[in-house]
Amino acid sequence: MKKIFLAGALLFLAVVAALFIVSAKADFFSGDHQASSRIKKDVIERMSAQKEEEKASDQEEQEPQEKPAEIKRPPVEEQPPKKQKDMSEDTKAESNGHIVVIDPGHQRQGDSHLEPNGPGSREKKARVTGGTRGTQTGIYEYELNLTIGLALREELEARGYTVYMTRETHDVNISNMERAKFANEKHADISVRIHANGAENHSAKGACVLVPSASNRFVSDLAGDSKRLGQKILSCYCDATGMVNQGIQENDTMTGINWCEMPVAILEMGYMTNAKDDVNMSQDDFQKKMVQGIANGIDQYFE
Ligand SMILES: [Zn+2]
Repeated sequence: MKKIFLAGALLFLAVVAALFIVSAKADFFSGDHQASSRIKKDVIERMSAQKEEEKASDQEEQEPQEKPAEIKRPPVEEQPPKKQKDMSEDTKAESNGHIVVIDPGHQRQGDSHLEPNGPGSREKKARVTGGTRGTQTGIYEYELNLTIGLALREELEARGYTVYMTRETHDVNISNMERAKFANEKHADISVRIHANGAENHSAKGACVLVPSASNRFVSDLAGDSKRLGQKILSCYCDATGMVNQGIQENDTMTGINWCEMPVAILEMGYMTNAKDDVNMSQDDFQKKMVQGIANGIDQYFE
């Protein structure tokens, strides 16, 4: 039994030794393969290490991006209301207590139906006419009047005035009597009516103002203040624009004046039938001067 056991043990050892040699040989012969597999292993490890580094670096890049984004977001959401507040504070100055109605003359379609020329008057005139048109620019008077009217509102509001517009679009049908009544309803301190002139004589140029006379059947009591208002506006307007000053003209046939219950002046800003006036009045920079001039005149009236 002992012999058999020893023989078995020796055989086992021999087998183990043989297996060891075979595996060592295999290692030796397959050295290239193992080396290449080691290189592959290394490469894979390096790649995965690189990937992890890249991941880490991605996170580093993303994290700083995300963190400020998170910090930025609340201010971005908070800023617009703050800005709007600031803007409204800028445009709407503290009230100076004066109410101005701006009447941008005419509208896209005139209305030839008649209305009384003044309170209790048997004389009747067209509700509202179409106005003139730029011979060079093709701009309609109702367009220019509204452009200037809206810009004037912005300027006056910035100066502290409360402003009402008789119209803010072209597609309205508001008669001259209705425009005056609108100003009355608003208890305006003054009504400033914005128009532009037209004439068959294309050399006619410059600005003028129409106001009621002291002998006006309807609003004689407003003649003095209306004239002073008109003079201030016209003078400042011509100073600001360099327009020819055609002076103050008394006119008692204007329905939109005769129905008024406050000082009122019609500014004829220039001649749309004069090439130079027409082109000037269509240009942004010139329009800013026009608006400044009118606003300056209104300021002076209330001084
Ligand atoms: Zn007009």
